[in-house]
Amino acid sequence: HEQDQNQTEYLQAVDEFLPTVEVFLKENPQFIESNILDILIEPERIIQFRVPWQDDQGKWQVNRGYRVQYNSAIGPYKGGLRFHPSVNLSVMKFLAFEQIFKNSLTGLPIGGGKGGSDFDPKGKSDGEVMRFCQSFMTELQKHIGPSTDVPAGDIGVGAREIGYLYGTYKRLRNYDAGVLTGKPLGYWGSQERTEATGYGAVYFVKHLLKDSNNSFAGKKVFVSGSGNVSIYAMEKAKELGATVLTCSDSSGFIFDPNGIDVELVKELKEKKRERIAKYVETHKEAVYYEGQSVWNFKEKCDIALPCATQNEINDEQADILVKNGVKIVAEGANMPCTLAAVHVLHAAGVHYCPGKAANAGGVAVSALEMSQNSERLSWSFEKVDGMLDDIMKNIYTTCRDTAKKYGDEGNLVLGANIAGFEKVSQAMLSQGLV
Ligand code: NDP
Repeated sequence: HEQDQNQTEYLQAVDEFLPTVEVFLKENPQFIESNILDILIEPERIIQFRVPWQDDQGKWQVNRGYRVQYNSAIGPYKGGLRFHPSVNLSVMKFLAFEQIFKNSLTGLPIGGGKGGSDFDPKGKSDGEVMRFCQSFMTELQKHIGPSTDVPAGDIGVGAREIGYLYGTYKRLRNYDAGVLTGKPLGYWGSQERTEATGYGAVYFVKHLLKDSNNSFAGKKVFVSGSGNVSIYAMEKAKELGATVLTCSDSSGFIFDPNGIDVELVKELKEKKRERIAKYVETHKEAVYYEGQSVWNFKEKCDIALPCATQNEINDEQADILVKNGVKIVAEGANMPCTLAAVHVLHAAGVHYCPGKAANAGGVAVSALEMSQNSERLSWSFEKVDGMLDDIMKNIYTTCRDTAKKYGDEGNLVLGANIAGFEKVSQAMLSQGLV
């Protein structure tokens, strides 16, 4: 649509997707005849709303809230809520679009959605965050439910925000644990949901490495970000024997030649809500590069795990990574590599693992949280961890085998897109394209 032409992130996600499914459509003309792509790229429903809230000075503020209910062919809409000043309709639509295929790849019955607001939790008091969340949920609750749409966290939405959102939902609609995932364990959250996206991304790479009898042991890893996904990607990579050399936030990055002290990052970010710059106060051999991107850093690196945000790696930075010796780039974040960066990585023979496959562990465990909520039972950490590892193995092998089947061995984006799309498109067609 002409009116969508300025939605750059959304168009980028669609531009990455469409060419990769051409080869599948050629072999399955029934989908072309039914005009499935035109229907697929139109979201089922977009909700946009006003979120008024009062700051600590008693002044009224207003933000914009969104929920994009993109595709429900294989299950209730499922996808996180993002609170960040960069949130707009384009970002919401790109995230919801990616979510459709990611959720399909998990093998679990969940459709694609995403939501959030341009509210910035940074620098806000607990009271301000609470009042914002209460106002946001007062509207959102009209549109969600445990069998229709189940939001979770994303950038700027962690345990604190989920708690306030859930409390408001409960007050307005009565108790229903299954309406949100990523809840604290005390009220029916799942074991390992906090760790799931980061651990899952590392499990994905673990299975890729296994194909060549290789492992994380002794590998040098770059991670970006220092939020939920980054922290647990670092923790698991370290546990499997890698040295994680970097992490970052939007103000700069840390290089620690001794390996990042993940416990300290947890303390700084999860408990104290500090900036990553504080890291060097106690770790004198580490260096803080203020205002710089970790992706401009020239230092030997075997595996890169971008875990911060979209478009954090451009083609020049992908080239630096190649020169650093990178062999695998696995996206913990959603669309952290630009399309040009992906071309550079592919041309250099780097294993590029797209976010919709590599970071699907978070939503997979969210779906397991929904199952536990439905049966009013909680599973052990070991049980969930075993299921997460199996799911990530299955996603990896599906992407690998689908790429091979369609004549482009090693192209995990093509594999992920076709495998995710096949299931959704078949469901849409059999339901009468509704
Ligand atoms: P968090 O809010 O916990 O952490 C985000 C991290 O990324 C912070 O370190 C933040 O730094 C940094 N960051 C955010 N925006 C920017 C920016 N514009 N420039 C530089 N750094 C930035 O979010 P999550 O860890 O939950 O999410 C990170 C990524 O992973 C997102 O792309 C998200 O969509 C994706 N993802 C998350 C899942 C989950 O389960 N949480 C599931 C699947 C994907 P600062 O504090 O300075 O803003």
